[in-house]
Amino acid sequence: MTDALFINGRWTTTDERVLGVEDRGFQFGDGVYEVFKFGRKRPIFLIDHFRRMDRGLRDIDIRNPWSESSFARTIDELLDRTAFDAGIVYVQVSRGEGERAHFYPDDMKPTAIAYSRRFRFPDDAKKERGIRLITGPDQRWTQCHVKSVNLLPNALAKKRAQRASADEALLVDEGVVREGASSSFFVVIKGRVVTHPLDEHILAGVVRDRVIGLALTSKIRIDERPLRETELFGVEEAFITSTTMGVMPVAEIDGRVIGNSRRGETTTRLQRLFDDLELSEISQQRATA
Ligand code: PLP
Repeated sequence: MTDALFINGRWTTTDERVLGVEDRGFQFGDGVYEVFKFGRKRPIFLIDHFRRMDRGLRDIDIRNPWSESSFARTIDELLDRTAFDAGIVYVQVSRGEGERAHFYPDDMKPTAIAYSRRFRFPDDAKKERGIRLITGPDQRWTQCHVKSVNLLPNALAKKRAQRASADEALLVDEGVVREGASSSFFVVIKGRVVTHPLDEHILAGVVRDRVIGLALTSKIRIDERPLRETELFGVEEAFITSTTMGVMPVAEIDGRVIGNSRRGETTTRLQRLFDDLELSEISQQRATA
């Protein structure tokens, strides 16, 4: 696939092998990444993704090679160079390349890449039908708020889900349901939406944040509190959120049907509100482009 690729200030395509074997992203998982969606060649929630990446880089002591405005320019040019209108952009910043050693020099030059990809977003049938989850142990590190490229526990959990004919793994730690392996997790209990509070146990999902905002303005009550695994099977509705899935109903967890097996009322409302928000974000971006 010859897609446009940005690397350290230069443009090439994904056909070129651009990384050195001693890049710390490759050898140590020493870096952070972002994935955002674009439609009609306009990025969606770009600044939210930039800010999360900036916070993550600061937390792990890597200099951000981009400012907010230079990042927006890079992404504009990437989407100009992209041959399709809608898809996702993958961005990664690693600490850079240097002789392999745990100690890293203070002045390393980060490796920054960005490229776009086509993506098959869920269609209306799937958005209504929902997905299946399995629960499993959260085997990640202690700073899950950093969107680190260390995704081995997430990848293994998702593979276990796939082998069990499920779509996503729900990560449980000390009896508390944290989040999905690549998604935020919500339930509805007695008409109130419940999701894990923002702390080091979960990633601050961009869609999570927008959905909470939509719920608040729509008078849907939200509780940000830890959810016990034992509460799971009494819930009225459950859904996950992520950049690629949007608001996605959960039909089953560990083979047990959630709610009355149809997309719940609150989930449906939030899904529609979020889809509209994405569309309005694309139109606004076009108006100002
Ligand atoms: N939680 C984890 C662990 C993730 O990897 C992701 C997305 O990749 C999310 C939540 C959802 O984040 P966002 O809404 O920013 O896509």
